[in-house]
Amino acid sequence: MAVQFLFPEGKRKALTFSYDDAQIHDRRLVSLFNEKGIKATFHLNSGTLGQPGFIASGEVEQLYEKHEVACHGVTHPFFNQLSLTQTVREVYEDRRALEKYSGKIVQGMSYPYGEYNDRLIQASLNAGIVYSRSIEPTMHFDLPADFMHWHPTWHHDQVTETMLEDFLTQPAYRNMSLLYIWGHSYEFERDGTWDHIEKICDRLQGQKDVWYATNLEIYEYVTAMRSLVISVEGDLVYNPSAVTLCLCDGEQVISLHPGERRKVGQ
Ligand SMILES: [Zn+2]
Repeated sequence: MAVQFLFPEGKRKALTFSYDDAQIHDRRLVSLFNEKGIKATFHLNSGTLGQPGFIASGEVEQLYEKHEVACHGVTHPFFNQLSLTQTVREVYEDRRALEKYSGKIVQGMSYPYGEYNDRLIQASLNAGIVYSRSIEPTMHFDLPADFMHWHPTWHHDQVTETMLEDFLTQPAYRNMSLLYIWGHSYEFERDGTWDHIEKICDRLQGQKDVWYATNLEIYEYVTAMRSLVISVEGDLVYNPSAVTLCLCDGEQVISLHPGERRKVGQ
């Protein structure tokens, strides 16, 4: 029987959230996520930090400590209106500033206004970005085919109780299901919908079969998984990555550590 991948610790589901623009309402959202044990990625525009209504640069490291900080363009530009040089600068300088403010290596991005093009994708890859999120909802729980075209499952306004139940009761044969919710924290304040995100978090928190991860953690795991070396017969596997992979070998769930080779399907 062929081996199948699972998320870390043999989990079959992964959940990630993605919030853009770093307005001050991120404070309340981060505190909600922390309380519920949920992980998220926050996409910041380094050029607007510290302006009225936005998070201050000096606040970034501590506020987003348990989450991921990622790029969103220095000035939240319309990328289709930029020259190649402007495009490069908007990504590279955003990365540089956010790394300084967060004290961490920044590798993720989301496209402002959901707008992207081939120049932007190539410039971003050259600048060290490894994934970027669009705003096109997939309405399904599949893993992304291409991380530079990472389409979320839904915007939070689209999430219903039925959809959450559907995710939580995905059949085992699907092996790996990913729920990816995105939005802006100011929308909860503007629309008076904080209770909506609280209900979503309440329903999704504390699930034994769910891996709570940032966007980058999911990127790293899935990329490592896709780099597994396997024999033609499928009986020998080698993990050349720096990530511990979890595999379902028949009835058995096994961990394949970085650099480990082993026989499977015995
Ligand atoms: Zn934005």
